[in-house]
Amino acid sequence: MGTRQEVRLRLAHLYADVMNVYGDQGNASALRYRCEARGITLEIASISIGETFDPRDYDLLIVGGGEDREQRRIADDLTKRGGAIRSAIAAGLPALAVCGGFQLFGNSYVGSDGKALPGIGVFRMETIHPGNKTKRSIGNVLLQTEFGEVVGFENHGASTWLDNREERFGTVVVGRGNNGEDGSEGARVANAIGTYLHGSLLPKNPSITDFLLERALSRRFGEGVTLEPLDQHHEESARKEASRITRRRKGLRQHLPGLLRR
Ligand code: GLN
Repeated sequence: MGTRQEVRLRLAHLYADVMNVYGDQGNASALRYRCEARGITLEIASISIGETFDPRDYDLLIVGGGEDREQRRIADDLTKRGGAIRSAIAAGLPALAVCGGFQLFGNSYVGSDGKALPGIGVFRMETIHPGNKTKRSIGNVLLQTEFGEVVGFENHGASTWLDNREERFGTVVVGRGNNGEDGSEGARVANAIGTYLHGSLLPKNPSITDFLLERALSRRFGEGVTLEPLDQHHEESARKEASRITRRRKGLRQHLPGLLRR
């Protein structure tokens, strides 16, 4: 019997202390859980404002959501790191950016006060918040994606418009998505996913977690790595229940339009 080599991956969790609404921290936990269940060690580095960070030292990158106030706090720091993050993602670094983080991974974000924050241009898209008097996009969401049906929860005031060369993450079945008009949700570039979905996203959608892990392992250890399948009946039943509740709400909305506010 040969000795089994330790498999170790490194995750950079950008601004974990600032950008963490609606359970986005759960995305790091889901990645770690699905690594550990396979005997893979996932080291998680929490990178905060001003801390040294070279994305080339990492196998995975995640950033969560935050309201305009938090986005303003991180914007300058993120801008300084923009070029390095953009090149790492273009070179295939698997990444997940959620809501407020997703918005700042675009070209620019005009906040609820009408002031523009620069984005880092990972995704070719513009985001505009029409102001706090406008109704927010809030509620459970169901998407059709390359990873199958995805469930999540959105809560954002701004609308995002993808450049027409940019790929969407999913197509909205229930919910508002990027802007409530064109049916798009999130964005996709190389191995990076941007999305409005909280929930947290990854614990309820293990196929996305495994996509990120499989890409990370293949980059480090060579293409052709396959992930050992896991018993995921808890995750699947959470996903199915979320899907059932979301579809039922859509049905109610169609039949009782005045009763449900969006
Ligand atoms: N501030 C952004 C908006 O309201 C993002 C909100 C969030 O991350 N939940 O559009």
